[in-house]
Amino acid sequence: MLLLNPGPVTLTERVRRSLLQTDLCHRESEFFDVQEEARTRLVGVYGLDPAQWQAVLMTGSGTAAVESMIASLVPANGKLLIVENGVYGERITQIATQYGIAHEVAKHDWMQAPDIAGIVARLDADRAITHVAIIHHETTTGRLNDLRALGAACRERGVQMLVDGVSSFGSEAIDFDDTSIAAVAATANKCLHGVPGAAFVVVRRAALQQAASRTYYLDLARLAKLQDQRNTPFTPSVHAYYALVEALRELADEGGWTARHARYAALSGQVRSGLAARGIDSVLPADESSVVLRAFRLPAGVDYPTLHDGLKARGFVIYAGQGGLSSQLFRISTMGDIHAPDIERLLAAFDGIVR
Ligand SMILES: *Cc1c(COP(=O)(O)O)cnc(C)c1O
Repeated sequence: MLLLNPGPVTLTERVRRSLLQTDLCHRESEFFDVQEEARTRLVGVYGLDPAQWQAVLMTGSGTAAVESMIASLVPANGKLLIVENGVYGERITQIATQYGIAHEVAKHDWMQAPDIAGIVARLDADRAITHVAIIHHETTTGRLNDLRALGAACRERGVQMLVDGVSSFGSEAIDFDDTSIAAVAATANKCLHGVPGAAFVVVRRAALQQAASRTYYLDLARLAKLQDQRNTPFTPSVHAYYALVEALRELADEGGWTARHARYAALSGQVRSGLAARGIDSVLPADESSVVLRAFRLPAGVDYPTLHDGLKARGFVIYAGQGGLSSQLFRISTMGDIHAPDIERLLAAFDGIVR
């Protein structure tokens, strides 16, 4: 079965085998070597300066990392503006609400790109806003939100950006030189090709210094402090860390994030043109979409369950649209151990279902 959903991904044999390493006590130096290698390699994915940036690991899915980032990095007297144009932006609003974090929402239609001028007006109208949260790749629609324009506006106003990079870290450009970016939250089992259970926040050391402590388990500053001391507060998902380290080694061996970007671009282009030839249109133009995942309109006369079940019977798991989009579109991710011949077989499988 090939997984074409946006994580967890189809594993390479190399990463799968890494799960079978020796049992480790998480309070022994062997585990801390694994933890250290993961942290060092994560900072290295985008070639960041370890004097300025650190990777803080945690056990949980991508949402744990996003929650940790939001709950920890908006200071007690801070205020957050959340850019919403899909499910994951809405999730950040739910997190801010639940923690009682002062926040405003820049709400957009799910099909809309963030309205930068509108967001800038909000920042200017409310100088209490200290942080903006945005989804880099909004997996709801496959849209790649433009961080550059927003970053420029934030820099001018001394506002910091908190980025959900869960489905872009490791495969899309992220300009960490943009001094407005305080942190990027992500996970092992999307573009990095690890297994679920390990997540992380790549955070500026300076931002951690003003961190709030609203959460117990996901307290980013405490996690960072203990990890810096080759320690850990709780039992980590040791095997997921094994797999993350191996996946990061594999990423480096394959040429790093730019090579992964190129690979995804070729595969998603192949899906896009193959489906277009079959009369199935992508929802967004290529230049507004990530290379990681694309959303397509359901072909006339074929509902999602029919398409999903037909493809599954032929060995492929695709992904439904979320919320109100479930009756209109389907999504195909090209993360994981997926190659051009797999996409050819996928397109052939469509021919058996969509006529
Ligand atoms: C997958 C994803 C998440 C987190 O999902 P989990 O199921 O918790 O791993 C968060 N944000 C985005 C943009 C995602 O694609």
